[in-house]
Amino acid sequence: MRSKTGFNACLRRAGTASLLLLSLLAWQRGSQPAWAQATTPPAQGAACDRGAFRVIVDVGHTAEAPGARSARGALEYDFNLRLATLIEHKLVAAGFEKTVLLVTGGAKRKSLFDRAARANRSSADLFLSIHHDSVPDSFLEKWEFEGEEHTFSDRFPGHSIFVSYDNADFAGSLEFGRLLGLALKAHGLRYTPHYTERFMGHRQRQLLDADAGVYRYDQLIVLKNTRMPAVLLEAGSIINRDEELQLGSSERQSLIVAAVTDAVESFCASRHPRAPHQAARRPAAATAAKTALRPAAATASPVKR
Ligand SMILES: [Zn+2]
Repeated sequence: MRSKTGFNACLRRAGTASLLLLSLLAWQRGSQPAWAQATTPPAQGAACDRGAFRVIVDVGHTAEAPGARSARGALEYDFNLRLATLIEHKLVAAGFEKTVLLVTGGAKRKSLFDRAARANRSSADLFLSIHHDSVPDSFLEKWEFEGEEHTFSDRFPGHSIFVSYDNADFAGSLEFGRLLGLALKAHGLRYTPHYTERFMGHRQRQLLDADAGVYRYDQLIVLKNTRMPAVLLEAGSIINRDEELQLGSSERQSLIVAAVTDAVESFCASRHPRAPHQAARRPAAATAAKTALRPAAATASPVKR
């Protein structure tokens, strides 16, 4: 112990001498010394520890229950899987190495609870569910494509974003929803405003942010049962004949992927950095106490793909 103390004192003396030398060199150059630059407060973006920040990119629906059909008869699940995979690859390439692509099988309702449970076990920082939209049946019209009859509606193109008041971190969910909506807008994409219309019936939603296109949808299981900020993105309308083609193009997919990545980067930078030992059980933001706060899962086993 004593020898270590002596060693430390020696190091301190050596450090003081080095600092004096560095100061002298810096004074001679007339610039701020390197050691002083290193102690300046980090910029906003530096607060984001990308390597520790886990995003779950949830592929909406399952192979067995594939969701909506497009105007040309393609499955929503296939659109979701393709886009979510591109998002996962881009996030990993951007340094978010803990990103998980969450693919779930089985019946629809059970798969929703499975998704939330797996996300909660994984100590994720953000949950993003990827979907593609359709319309209520009353809006469907018939047409023929490649000799087969299909249904379509060319109304209501555009994406939409949903958050739940019942999420444990509603404030965080809304914050990411806004960042995502504004990033999509910055990439030239428009949200659809039709969810505010009375004709949507039980699908009518409250628009929480008219600039970013964020709607309130409290009942969605993947949003209310997850204990981290959670957002559902309807990336566009595949029942719309034009937009289906756009959503199948690499150009449109690249815009959405870039917007999601920008939003995740901004969101990560806005969150308080976590100490490693806190990673498994960070409480939800206190400001989000719409509902009783529940502690996050104590175990932090990564989600299997
Ligand atoms: Zn869907």
